[in-house]
Amino acid sequence: MIFCYNIIGDVMNSKSFKIKDIFSDRWDDFVALGYPLRPAILHNVRKIINCGDPSMGHALYFCDHCGKIKHVPFTCKSRFCNSCGAKYIQDRAASISSKLIQCEHRHIVFTIPKELRPFFRKDRSLLHLLFHASAATIHAWFYSINKSESFKPGFISTLHTFGRDLKWNPHIHMLITEGASGNKTVWRKIPHIPFTMLRKRWQTTLLDLLHRYLGDSFINLRLPYSKLILLAFMSMLNLTCFLILLIQLNILLGILADQLWLSPEFLIMMVNS
Ligand SMILES: [Zn+2]
Ligand SMILES: [Zn+2]
Repeated sequence: MIFCYNIIGDVMNSKSFKIKDIFSDRWDDFVALGYPLRPAILHNVRKIINCGDPSMGHALYFCDHCGKIKHVPFTCKSRFCNSCGAKYIQDRAASISSKLIQCEHRHIVFTIPKELRPFFRKDRSLLHLLFHASAATIHAWFYSINKSESFKPGFISTLHTFGRDLKWNPHIHMLITEGASGNKTVWRKIPHIPFTMLRKRWQTTLLDLLHRYLGDSFINLRLPYSKLILLAFMSMLNLTCFLILLIQLNILLGILADQLWLSPEFLIMMVNS
């Protein structure tokens, strides 16, 4: 608590400050407290602290005409950096937008109950199962519409490892086309995605995958299936706005989450887009 007050006090006393300044001033003291910090956190914070420091390397420009010399320090390129991260947001949003199919999309959030979250906290390598389970859920639904067509939609998934309260709460955000291409049909609009069916498929697929990875000890816990919730549907999103908001949320909350030792992974998986 004293540590927090010190940070706030310093910030209040300074005329202008950056996130980097807080880390530069206090990071070593914080690390010395001995809280468990993953190597990725240590690596990224060190990059932020050294971002733009000329002693860490710089480019030198020389003008043949007037003889002026300009030093441009190297930046860290970390998406955690609130300076470099802004450019990352723009580049990433532009890159993804250019690959998206020009049609209406829906936003689906695949969440898990609090009973399952400790498994992913204990072994973060399990997080990839959330991608696999959500993708399998969607593929199974579109396949079931017409088996000979085997419709394939376009979707992008991103992982959040924290909720609004910054507590550990891994979930998948998926942006999916309101339509799909089939073996014979180039494109068919499929505006209706049945919520109850998706929810049940998600439950079954994820629990099956966890059972396969964790063995019978997992299934013996007899988790209440009904607590698995597929949260929200939204339609007709402005794709660029959505992507920018989503990536910003990752970065901004990521910085805060890191201070609570809940650093989020940020993964984007492109499937059929
Ligand atoms: Zn930077
Ligand atoms: Zn989220």
